[in-house]
Amino acid sequence: MESKPETKTKFISTTSHKLKTPLNAIIGFSELLLEQVYGPLNEKQIHYLKNINSSGKNLLALLNDLIDLMNFKWGDPNPYYSEFSLPHALNEAQESLKCLADQKNISLEIRNGAEVSIIKADEPKFMKILLNLLSNAIKFTPPGGKVEISTKYHKTPSPDFSFSQPYVEVSVKDTGVGIKPGDQEKIFSEFYQVDPEISQTFEGTGLGLTLARELVRLHRGEIWVESEVGKGSKFTFIIPITV
Ligand code: ADP
Repeated sequence: MESKPETKTKFISTTSHKLKTPLNAIIGFSELLLEQVYGPLNEKQIHYLKNINSSGKNLLALLNDLIDLMNFKWGDPNPYYSEFSLPHALNEAQESLKCLADQKNISLEIRNGAEVSIIKADEPKFMKILLNLLSNAIKFTPPGGKVEISTKYHKTPSPDFSFSQPYVEVSVKDTGVGIKPGDQEKIFSEFYQVDPEISQTFEGTGLGLTLARELVRLHRGEIWVESEVGKGSKFTFIIPITV
């Protein structure tokens, strides 16, 4: 018998808790030992502890992405629409990733060209899409580069799209490594990474864009990328807004 979405959601949240608790202990205690408050460590011990710590963090990132995807596929897939401020959402996203951008001396700017301030969407899911695109842009942009979020409001629905309401367009543009044409569609597939070795050094999981696309589609929107190797990428998503 098919179980209800609530039963599945509960199962996912219990499993998630059970897996995350020991994992957080591994991360936390390896950090504590690395601080050497309980005695000095030799170089080999530091090396292996750093390995334990970064593997723990990678596993936690993978687990978080998997849980999001499972919740989406097997939990309650309905979007919960509410009205919220677009400029506020953009500022919040900028604020939460500012530290990451500063560490690489990357400028993170907003150009909000949308003449609407209140939009209607599932706010946490909207934020998730935006944060996934932004954190990728920062990850794949060399130090000293630039990441820019821009928005536009389209009052007239485009005949090219599958909806007939006004819509908002959000783009995240970077001056990063770029993606070659043959990879531009593949990167939206589960676990696909252009260069797994490079992506994994950034603690990537290959699930961020899959999830972003599912969440955009849940809003009946679309997402795509334009990119040039060595110059940068621009990810754009559009979602109809009903305000
Ligand atoms: P990951 O956790 O590896 O970032 P994603 O699904 O978010 O997983 O992205 C998949 C792959 O797409 C990345 O590993 C990277 O190869 C490529 N990619 C995503 N965003 C960008 C970007 N802004 N610039 C260059 N490559 C990108």
